[in-house]
Amino acid sequence: MRSERVVVVGAGIGGLSAALILAARGLNVTVLERAATPGGKLREATPGTARIDCGPTVLTMPDVLADVFADAGESLSAHLTLHPSTVLARHAWSETERLDLFANIDRSADAIGVLAGAAEARGFLEFCARARRIHQTLDRPFMRRPEPSMTGLLRRAGPRALLGISPFGRLWPALGRHFRDPRLQQLFGRYATYCGSSPFLAPATLMLVAHVEQSGVWLVEGGMHRIAAAVASLAAARGARIRYGAEVAGIVAARGRCRGVRLADGERIEADAVLCNADVAALSSGAFGGPARSAVAATSPARRSLSALTWALEADTAGLELLRHTVFFSPDYPAEFADLRAGRLPRAPTVYVCAQDRDDAGRRSAGAAAGAERLLLIVNAPPTGDTRPSSDSEIRQCETQTFSELRRCGLVMHRRPERTELTTPAGFARLFPATGGGLYGQASHGWRATFRRPGVRSRMPGLYLAGGSTHPGPGVPMAALSGRMAAAAILQDLASTNRSAGTAIAGGMSTP
Ligand SMILES: Cc1cc2nc3c(=O)[nH]c(=O)nc-3n(C[C@H](O)[C@H](O)[C@H](O)COP(=O)(O)OP(=O)(O)OC[C@H]3O[C@@H](n4cnc5c(N)ncnc54)[C@H](O)[C@@H]3O)c2cc1C
Repeated sequence: MRSERVVVVGAGIGGLSAALILAARGLNVTVLERAATPGGKLREATPGTARIDCGPTVLTMPDVLADVFADAGESLSAHLTLHPSTVLARHAWSETERLDLFANIDRSADAIGVLAGAAEARGFLEFCARARRIHQTLDRPFMRRPEPSMTGLLRRAGPRALLGISPFGRLWPALGRHFRDPRLQQLFGRYATYCGSSPFLAPATLMLVAHVEQSGVWLVEGGMHRIAAAVASLAAARGARIRYGAEVAGIVAARGRCRGVRLADGERIEADAVLCNADVAALSSGAFGGPARSAVAATSPARRSLSALTWALEADTAGLELLRHTVFFSPDYPAEFADLRAGRLPRAPTVYVCAQDRDDAGRRSAGAAAGAERLLLIVNAPPTGDTRPSSDSEIRQCETQTFSELRRCGLVMHRRPERTELTTPAGFARLFPATGGGLYGQASHGWRATFRRPGVRSRMPGLYLAGGSTHPGPGVPMAALSGRMAAAAILQDLASTNRSAGTAIAGGMSTP
């Protein structure tokens, strides 16, 4: 093992990806995670008899995960089994208005033509071409760079390509130029919520999320949590020490440089580099101590991304046939986001249902028992879990509305309260400190927001950043990508420190 010591704060997918790569390069890696299991938002719950994924459910861009495994000299397929989906998702507005989108653009266009007419199908094809152009312009020149630099983007993409994607436009009016049918504007506007943002305030460049989903969605055998479990166990096999129930209470600095961390029980661990995988708001809020506060630009609760109400449950369903991913749209989208902006739970929520015993065609898996099935329901909620948590009666009211929205669209659910686990913004705020329950870092509102996310190097030498609140943004592949870029930056900086010092950095371990 090499002598350089790296401490990773948090075992989310960003932290784990970096830990795996660094451990595979022989560095002395310690991961400190306050929870009892790896994965962070890639969580599971057991509200009844079986485990249910209750964080991310849609896997896109598996090439990023494959790169993480490849950096460790392994193949993704040796550790995870992925199945591509033919049907991306089912969408419902009422008992009679349904639309399935497919991994094949022409099939989706045909389905749109049946729902909304030939002009809308043509609008969809133009929209897809535009979303693809945005993705191509931003992917390598911006998203896969360690720092979100406007000048770097201009240099790499070129002013012509950049102006060609209308970088300053807003998403909602841009969608209106492709779709006359408000249902389709709503459907493609919803992709902004993948970054915890309002479709009415997000930049038009977020269309690229639609392109990413259109490029493919995968099902993970054993559930999404398996991704975190697989990366964690491979990191441990490569020598990383992963300590659960270990809460970091402070970043230790001396002479302006990060020197290690202090745990909540007083233990100090020295390190040559610290990678923070907690939300960057935890740093800027002072939760890790004074010196670390100015390691990143100030974040503001007013700019937080959306939170959620999630129900992980076992229930019998009837009526509308669920696929793995089904979305039930609010009859009043502007009202939903006006409520959220005002800090209220939505009175007319859009409901996402993940049926985890079903595949993309709605078939129940062979091993799944007949009867009750494993479901995750997600509704957008305001990130006010710490400042103005919703009252029990507000939550009950939103719950009633959520299940009546499902009924309105033809889905009947027989659920049992004893087989339901509800997580509220206040619950998410406890799980992810300094976020108020905001699940995706700061919201992508306005074109500048994308450039406000910090890159992999913080302002404090020796302190690095990875995860959904950093560049290039939230989502499992993006957080993994940031972890991979952070690992590369740490390796590069340690190598240059070693060269300039002319000797290896001194060893030494935990000092309780
Ligand atoms: C309900 C929900 C649905 C989602 N759906 C999708 C989806 O379908 N597809 C998708 O790609 N993405 C989705 N996302 C987003 C995605 O899950 C996240 O962007 C990604 O998992 C974040 O990873 P991360 O690296 O930022 O780490 P996180 O998951 O944020 O984990 C950070 C870790 O740091 C730990 N930590 C924090 N502070 C400390 C401390 N002081 N000491 C020690 N440990 C600490 C936390 O306990 C946590 O384990 C969803 C998220 C949620 C919550």
